[in-house]
Amino acid sequence: MTGTIDIEALCAAKGLRITEQRRTIARVLSAAVDHPDVEEVHHRAAAIDPGISIATVYRTVRLFEEAGILARHDFQGGRSRYETASDAHHDHLIDIESGRVIEFHDAELEELQRRIAERLGYRLVDHRMELYAVAVPDTSA
Ligand SMILES: [Zn+2]
Repeated sequence: MTGTIDIEALCAAKGLRITEQRRTIARVLSAAVDHPDVEEVHHRAAAIDPGISIATVYRTVRLFEEAGILARHDFQGGRSRYETASDAHHDHLIDIESGRVIEFHDAELEELQRRIAERLGYRLVDHRMELYAVAVPDTSA
């Protein structure tokens, strides 16, 4: 889920050493609402601390991911994108023209997927749903 989790506090809870650069990267990720890729995280972090290299961002993002603090998404046709991990399940719609990522949750869809798994003899424990779409022009005006 985006923008709701304090990564610094999670690092402390998981015993991760937090350096000044990691703190800056954690703040950028905590504030992000748009599932940024590593280059975008670097761009934002370097605006705060120009000494932060892209290699440091790569290492830090991987560290956070391994600690279960960040979730990685490998959406089609792009680089890996990141958001803070969360218990609140949601799915994603990806605008293939702008790269914008929109979060949604749909109870009917969740129930349908549960029933499909059940019909196949399984109990659903997780899923990923990615919708790839183009915006429909607003013709009402
Ligand atoms: Zn998301």
